[in-house]
Formats: sequence, structure tokens, C-alpha cells
Amino acid sequence: MDKTGIIWTEKTWNPVTGCKQITSGCAYCYAKTIAERMRGQAFPNGFGLTYRPHRLNEPYRWKEPTLAFVNSMSDLFWEEITDEYRDRVLDVIEDNPQHQFQVLTKRHDVMLRYAKRRKLPANFWAGVTIEDAKNYALRIEALRKVDAEIRFISFEPLIGDIGQSLDLSAIQWVITGGESGTHLWHPKLMEQRALVLYDRDVKKWLPKPHAVDWIRRIRDNAIINGTAYFHKQWGGSYPEAAGRVLDGRTWNEMPRYPGDKTEIDNAYLRKLEGATL
Ligand code: SF4
Repeated sequence: MDKTGIIWTEKTWNPVTGCKQITSGCAYCYAKTIAERMRGQAFPNGFGLTYRPHRLNEPYRWKEPTLAFVNSMSDLFWEEITDEYRDRVLDVIEDNPQHQFQVLTKRHDVMLRYAKRRKLPANFWAGVTIEDAKNYALRIEALRKVDAEIRFISFEPLIGDIGQSLDLSAIQWVITGGESGTHLWHPKLMEQRALVLYDRDVKKWLPKPHAVDWIRRIRDNAIINGTAYFHKQWGGSYPEAAGRVLDGRTWNEMPRYPGDKTEIDNAYLRKLEGATL
């Protein structure tokens, strides 16, 4: 099992690694940075395609019902990955209905094609990442067509306003978050990509007022549509640099899913209690 600092999941599962940057949200991909740093070691091909079939059996060994983020170091719907290998991943997911598998992609069209080819099991959460208005319409429209019990969107890193056309109907879960990383010390990148700015007088990262309005719009639309809402972070030089409070509270909602979730929720809440808020 792989422990993770991603607070909306319990562990990561990477039966394949490697990916290629495709849109603006990928520019500072943490997975690429890690994989290239460990090229020739834990990542023999760096961020190139690496099948890891020995990891396919991992979920069978998890003792407790688990929320797992699939491919934190890749995109399962990257065109380089074959449908045959995706089928092997899906076989494991189907075989383990006690676990929930969160799959996030920027290749909405590939996910939709695959979901038409093979029915997704109830414990497969189908998600897309959306970073700005430019990528909003195509990705959410494709996601709505995916036949999945839980459809979700990660607006992280949110780089621009999604705008008035935002409509989260038929989406069960939404995550928001700002970009993080030391590159944001660069004034131009801070201005262009961050939801926060560094206030040198108080020596703190603080959310930009207009970015707070972008996030509020997403939250309010989630509330109207009955979509569970999770605000992960404001971002800055590190993920929690500006905390994660929005309008006086933390937003930790999770979607409802079939099966007994009591134990999972408790484990999840215990994790949050230990997290930096
Ligand atoms: S799709 Fe995801 S994993 Fe692939 S390069 Fe972009 S951010 Fe990285």
C-alpha cells in the first residue's frame, strides 16, 4: 500500500506509472517531478510509461474497506496505456467491491469511450480534472455521459474562473484547490497561476479576493445541486501554506456510495483530525 498526503483519499494505488503533459494544469505536475527525480531507480523510465503488473494484487491484501486514488503517478486514460491493461485494472476493481477506487483523468474522451466499451463497476468513481473555463465544457459534458455511480470533478489546480456557465448537476462530488510549489515564489507565476499571494508585511500566503469568489461560486453551485463539496487547500509555496478554510469553515464533504461506509468514514475522519487544517 502507498500512504499519501492527499487528504481526500486514504491511499494511492499505482498499477501503472508515467504520463504526458497535455494542458495548462499539467505545467507543474508533481508526478512528473517525482518520477524524473527518481529516473533509473524507483522509476526506471522516469515519467515514461511503466506497467507494474506486480501491483495489481495489492487491493486483495488491504484488510479494511479503503478509499484508494488510482494512478496518482499517471492518468489511467492516457492514450499510451492499452485497453487490455485497463481491463486488468478494472478486473481488480470489480473483484474488490469492499473498496472504493477514485480515478481522475484529463482524457475525458478516452474515459467516455472506455466506459461505453466496458461497464464501470459501482465502486469505480469516475472523475475529471478541470483547471479553467477553457477545459470546463468538454470535460464536464463527457463526464455526464459516463455511466458511473459516482462522477466527480477535481478543480485543482484551479487556475482561472470557471464563470457563470458552471453547472454541477448530475455530479456527485467536487474538490477545489489551488496550485502549490516553490515555483509560485516567482511573481509572474504567482500572479498567473496561484489562488493566493504572499503578503510580505504579515509574512503569510493569503487567498486573493477574486479567487475566493471563484471558489465560492463552485461551492454554492455544489450546494444548489446536492453535490458533496471538499475544499482541499488554497495553495502557495506548499499545499497548506494558506490553510483550507473557506468562509469560516473547512469543507470535507464526501459523496454517498453503495455499501456500508461507516468504517470508511470513521477512518477518513480520523485522518482529517490528524491533518493540518
Ligand atoms: S494528466 Fe495528470 S499525471 Fe498526466 S501530466 Fe497532467 S497532471 Fe501530470
